[in-house]
Amino acid sequence: MEILLNPGPVNLSKRVRRALLKPDLCHREIEFSELQNSILGKLLDVYNLDSNQWAAILLTGSGTAAMEAMMISLIPDNGKILIIENGVYGERLSRIAEIHDISYNSLHYEWGEEVDIGKLQQSLTDDITHVAVVHHETTTGRLNDIAAIADVCKSRNISLLLDGVSSFGAEEICFQEWNIAACAATANKCLHGIPGASFVVTNRNAVKQAGNIQRTLYLDLHTYLRQQDKGGTPFTQSVQSFYALDEALDEHHDEGGWRNRQAVYRTRMESVKTALHEIGIESLLPEKISSCVLHAFRLPEGIDYTALHDRLKEYGFIIYAGQGEFATRIFRISLMGAIGDDDLKRLLDAFRQIVQ
Ligand SMILES: *Cc1c(COP(=O)(O)O)cnc(C)c1O
Repeated sequence: MEILLNPGPVNLSKRVRRALLKPDLCHREIEFSELQNSILGKLLDVYNLDSNQWAAILLTGSGTAAMEAMMISLIPDNGKILIIENGVYGERLSRIAEIHDISYNSLHYEWGEEVDIGKLQQSLTDDITHVAVVHHETTTGRLNDIAAIADVCKSRNISLLLDGVSSFGAEEICFQEWNIAACAATANKCLHGIPGASFVVTNRNAVKQAGNIQRTLYLDLHTYLRQQDKGGTPFTQSVQSFYALDEALDEHHDEGGWRNRQAVYRTRMESVKTALHEIGIESLLPEKISSCVLHAFRLPEGIDYTALHDRLKEYGFIIYAGQGEFATRIFRISLMGAIGDDDLKRLLDAFRQIVQ
């Protein structure tokens, strides 16, 4: 089987794959209700959140469904959002606002650039009620400084919406301290489940305060939360994805939670970076600002992305291209999922053979 070094979906562990074989379930039966409740509790447990104050809301869809649900369910008609962009996913948040006619301003940076807190403060005009930002910008591997952004939002009583799709489960997310209103995430990145389930972890007050917004039928978090609290779900959910997520959350817990996952990713990336730097492949961004989840490297002289990708695929490894203008300049490696030390060794040998 190929080893996936793309930022999700990930290689499954044996125990998560086995969970896919559990019995078929009707989503209106008590067994489904129990499965869903189990997942909801475990999702809150990842960051020790109290279920009286917080709720996880489960959706069938990819990470973008969770981003979109969060944006269109939580910003009232008379609200206005400032969207911070420094990569593809920040720009996607703006696109969502545009499509749904949500009043917004963008604070735009080039991909990979740092978010300037002074500029953020200047951009927060009195009409801004919400700020949205990507935690780990998967475009470049930059981990945005949410603590600093959150401080500004808190001081102005502004609600903070976070795209944590590629950080939830492996990076620190201080829901309380950062006063997060909601965070969108997915099953198939740092949590090691399968694609098909995504979720929004939200402060229950944020849902109440948003009131009754009518922008969507399918992605309305209010509807989901109301039914989930009674053990139900408004629509057919991806039962098998839920089985996998439930098992993946147990595995996540058994292995030591987000802190351990962060440590594992860091150790893996450290060995990859060391080996690639040794053969002249440079990092796009400095160490200090990089996530533990993904690292972007500059393409080595004389080898384009397709050639590198295809050679590595012959060895059984799938790397990930840069997007937009980065397509010809970088490649990306993520080390989530069930990857063994022997896999890593083989990967580094493959790089040495191909590049030297
Ligand atoms: C992967 C990702 C998404 C969602 O992508 P999907 O393909 O819809 O799962 C959103 N935001 C970030 C930061 C991501 O890395």
